Parts: sequence; structure tokens; C-alpha cells
Amino acid sequence: MTSTATAVVVGGGLAGTTAALALADAGLRVTLVEGRPRLGGLVFSFRRDSAAGELSVDNGQHVYLRCCTAYGRMLDRLGAARLVPLQDRMDVPVLDADRMRLGRLRRTALPVPLHLAASLARYPHLSPAERAGVVRATLALQGLDPADPVLDGVDFGSWLRRHGQSSRAVEALWDLVGIATLNARAGDVSMGLAAKVFKTGLLSAPGAADIGWSRVPLGDVHDALARTALEKAGVRIALRTRAASVTRTDGRWQVAVESGPHGGERLTADTVVLAVPQRETHGLLPAGALADRDRLLDIGTAPILNLHVVYDRKVLRRPFFAAVGSPVQWVFDRTDASGLTRTPGNERCQYLAVSQSAAQEEIDQPVAKLRARYLPELERLLPAARGARIIDFFVTRERTATFAPAPGVGRLRPAARTQAPGLYLAGAWTATGWPATMESAVRSGTAAAREALNELGFPQGQLPQEAA
Ligand SMILES: Cc1cc2nc3c(=O)[nH]c(=O)nc-3n(C[C@H](O)[C@H](O)[C@H](O)COP(=O)(O)OP(=O)(O)OC[C@H]3O[C@@H](n4cnc5c(N)ncnc54)[C@H](O)[C@@H]3O)c2cc1C
Repeated sequence: MTSTATAVVVGGGLAGTTAALALADAGLRVTLVEGRPRLGGLVFSFRRDSAAGELSVDNGQHVYLRCCTAYGRMLDRLGAARLVPLQDRMDVPVLDADRMRLGRLRRTALPVPLHLAASLARYPHLSPAERAGVVRATLALQGLDPADPVLDGVDFGSWLRRHGQSSRAVEALWDLVGIATLNARAGDVSMGLAAKVFKTGLLSAPGAADIGWSRVPLGDVHDALARTALEKAGVRIALRTRAASVTRTDGRWQVAVESGPHGGERLTADTVVLAVPQRETHGLLPAGALADRDRLLDIGTAPILNLHVVYDRKVLRRPFFAAVGSPVQWVFDRTDASGLTRTPGNERCQYLAVSQSAAQEEIDQPVAKLRARYLPELERLLPAARGARIIDFFVTRERTATFAPAPGVGRLRPAARTQAPGLYLAGAWTATGWPATMESAVRSGTAAAREALNELGFPQGQLPQEAA
């Protein structure tokens, strides 16, 4: 195959962006088609004209960990590493709402697993017996293989109970981390995915769980900088362009697009990467490309709700905290990233984003109800919020934020390679072994590009080989 080989990547989320960059870097002529008017998929920002002036709002708070090496590499590639920095050392303030006591989950420079020992020994939200129990469960986790199919069928909650974890230990430690990373409570999580998260984040390297988050609107990174990098690599980007069907004629792929500047056209390519969610993939996959295409429809989804509150004063001193004993899960200070204080008169205001994962019960609740529930709760957690004026309150709802990490989901997630030559799948929901994260999306894009280049006989020297 010569360097004139062509590829169409469908879907401009992180998976599609990664695949398109990797294929273009290898010398293919790549077209990236994205139905929306922007890149970034589930990671995006929008402008809001609020009483506080114009805000740049992220659809949902996103964080990543130092162990997310593929995502870190993408940030480097986009020139965004300094915009989305990591903590020097993991440090998570955890506030117990009932006792109004602040604990910290911090690491030291000691080797694994001692790096967390001092913090756990002092963690005030668990009794000494519960802390000892956590150590025993952690050692048991260390011996598990997250890829073991038996674990995929077991739920994490039952495993924790069998390993002596009290409901308090589940709430104040396992779910505190697990709900945010897996988007489900322990009882609803595949043990394989839980083992992946806790082993990789807590036991793979001392710095693995150091937390990073964007200091700029996410759209600046995953739309604007991604576009620049793709264009520089020679990728043709077709926004507002929905793929309607994918068919094979005379040994080549035809992608029919139904809207946008290329509406009505058929794009022809040697390689197609479908980097769209599972339901859309099911609709686009040609017959015979997967042994049991309908299995994709059994991969559920899970919502994330974000509540955005602008106060007329500073009510939180830390960049973020997590809460236990409260409906509030994680709270982030978004003031600087939103550009809020650049509006004259707002210099003293603060904008908090409250990130609520596994939000099935609240995702469709009216704003007024959410406001009535969460504003008093924030006042309970943050004394400085009592008496502060609310300048703006709004919510963002992502009903299909992630795939549901339910027991058994592992056997439903397809690999990058399909049974149709030249047709590949990518997306956080494919078989990366990771939960639905930016890391999983980037890894899936790389995996799809690797398979494609392999089949085309291209060298893959530039493609990173991530550790499992
Ligand atoms: C509120 C929220 C909070 C999150 N928090 C975190 C977090 O803290 N850390 C973390 O790592 N992850 C987090 N995630 C998950 C993470 O955002 C996703 O796992 C990841 O972005 C998925 O990327 P993707 O490329 O696989 O899919 P998507 O982002 O869904 O991209 C698919 C793209 O395909 C396009 N598309 C669909 N159909 C077509 C078609 N027919 N033609 C053309 N284009 C099409 C869509 O418009 C979309 O742009 C969060 C997600 C949400 C929503």
C-alpha cells in the first residue's frame, strides 16, 4: 500500500481525534467527519451570558490521573500539558458533612503501597478497624487480574462486603473514588473495572493517582487545539457532517454523509474508523462486521449532572474537595477557567461546579428542585456561603455521559478490529479494559489506528505502546 491510502474517521471526540492524528502521522490521507459544529464530543465548553457576565462553561468537570498516560500524551501532542497540569502529589480534601470534619487522602514519596499508609492511618472518616479492613482489601485487590472474565461477572459491592468492608468504608473511601471514576456505585460496578481503577490508580506507582484538571475551558483544548493539531497533520475536518451509512463496494469503503458542507456526498476510503457511541455504531455497522452486532445495544449508559453556582464572594479556599455524608459529591472552583473575574465588578465572585456522577435519580429533575436541594447543602458544607448572594445557578445534564460499568459489560465491549477488512471501532466504550474515561477514548483511538496501519502494512514506529 502506498502513502496515498485514505481513511475516514467518523466522530470527532477524543477517540476519533486520536485515531485521525495517528493515521495522518503515518501518511494516510484522512477525513474526520463530525456531526456537531465542534470537536471534543463529550468534552466541551459553551458560552453563557449570565448575570455575572459572560462565562465559559464546561459541560462537566473532567479530571484525569497521572496513570492516564495515553491522555497525558495527547495533551502533550496538542501543546496543552501546561493548561491541564497534574498535582505534584495526590491530595484530596474530604469533608464529612455530618461532623464537619476535614480529612485528606494524600500520598507520600514512599513506594507503593506505603505511599498511602500515613494518610490512611490518619483518615478521620473511618474507625481504626475500618482502616485496617481497607488495608486488607487493598492487599486482596493487588492479587487480582482486572482482565479475568470471572471478575467481570462479579459486582464490586459484593466483593467489598466479602472482604469485610463496612457500609461506612464503602461510602467514605471506595465509593468516594469509585463513583467519580466509574460513574456507578459499587453494587452496580463490574469487579474487573473496579480492580482496573483501584489497582492502576492506587497500586501501580506512587504518583499514579495525582490528579490533573484543566485551568482553561475544555473546548480550548479538545476543540481549538485539537483542530490546530489535526490541520497541521493534514487531516481534512468536516464539521456539521453526519455519517448516515457505511458500505463496501469494489473493495473500498463508502461513507455516505447526510448533512453539512458534504451532505449527500459519498466519501471513499481504504480504511474507516467508527469513533461514535455504541448505539450510533450499531446503526452504522454493515451486516457481518461484528458476530453479534445487537450486543452493542446491551451496553447501557449512565448520566452525570453538574450544578453550576456563581457566588458574589469567595466561599471555597481550595481548588476542590469531595464530601461524604452529603448528597454533594465533588466541588471544583471554576472561577479562573471560566473567565468570570475578568468581567469588571466580578473580581470577588466565585464560580463552583458541583459534579454529581451516577446521577440517575436527579438527572431529569427541574432546576428549581435541584437548587432547593443543593444550595442549602452547599451552605452547610461551606460556612462562607451562608449569606452570600447567588448571582447565577444553572445545571448541565449529560444523560449518556459514560457507558454503564455494570457487571458483565466486559464481554459486551468489542475490540478495535471488526470482521470487515479495513473497518475499525474506537470509543471509550470499546474493549480497552478502562472505564469510560478520556484515557479509554484515547487508547481506543490509538488501538484502532494500530490495527488499521498493521493491515495496510504501514510501519507503526510512531504509535505509542501503552502499558495495559
Ligand atoms: C459530564 C461528564 C463528565 C466526565 N468526567 C470525566 C472525567 O472526569 N474524567 C474522564 O477521564 N472522563 C470523564 N468523562 C468521560 C469522557 O468525557 C468520555 O469517556 C470521552 O470523552 C468519550 O470520548 P469518545 O471519543 O469515546 O466519545 P464521544 O465524546 O461521545 O465522541 C463521539 C463523537 O461522535 C460524534 N458522532 C456521533 N454520531 C455521528 C455520526 N453519525 N456522524 C458523525 N459524527 C457522529 C458525536 O457528535 C461525538 O462528537 C465525563 C463525561 C461527561 C459527559
